[in-house]
Amino acid sequence: MIPFRTETPKRRDIKNVVKKYSDHREDLKKDYKCRCGYCNDIDIWRTVWFEIDHFVPQRYLETIKETDYSNLVYACRSCNNAKRAHWPTGEELIHHKDDKGFIDPCDDEYGKQFARYDNGRIIYQTPLGKWMYYKLKLHKPQHKIIWQIEETYNLINECRKLLEVIDSPIIKDRLLGLYERYVEYTLKLSKN
Ligand SMILES: [Zn+2]
Repeated sequence: MIPFRTETPKRRDIKNVVKKYSDHREDLKKDYKCRCGYCNDIDIWRTVWFEIDHFVPQRYLETIKETDYSNLVYACRSCNNAKRAHWPTGEELIHHKDDKGFIDPCDDEYGKQFARYDNGRIIYQTPLGKWMYYKLKLHKPQHKIIWQIEETYNLINECRKLLEVIDSPIIKDRLLGLYERYVEYTLKLSKN
């Protein structure tokens, strides 16, 4: 098994008042390092599918404002749709109770609720993790596939770096051709 994620996203303390919460999109993308807070999928190939989730759903907000940065999560459409207004405690300030509810993805504890098989498939590690896993539909194959594409892409780029130090123009040419085919293949995978 491998860790669910390598880094915990951290929201900056952004307090500027905006007209609508979507005005925070670029800051969120930056703080979440282009990843969905819930499944950790990277948005490189699917930016269009990334949305903004209210961690505490809007209907339960009392003291927090709809546009408050501290309550926003950069999320893929799959997780955002799956989470919707699920909030079992029904209270703004209580995130979870009796192993039901959510942990803020910017909390280190969130990452400890899950792990991954070597092939990238997400698994839960705790009872609360199990609850979130099914509510967020983290079992969906797309999370594993996007993880695999990213791994492949990183390997290809490692190979690309090695190409720089090869002297023989013939070998370099052939390897460059292979590199381009790999990149093309990875991009095709991400479109499926
Ligand atoms: Zn997601």
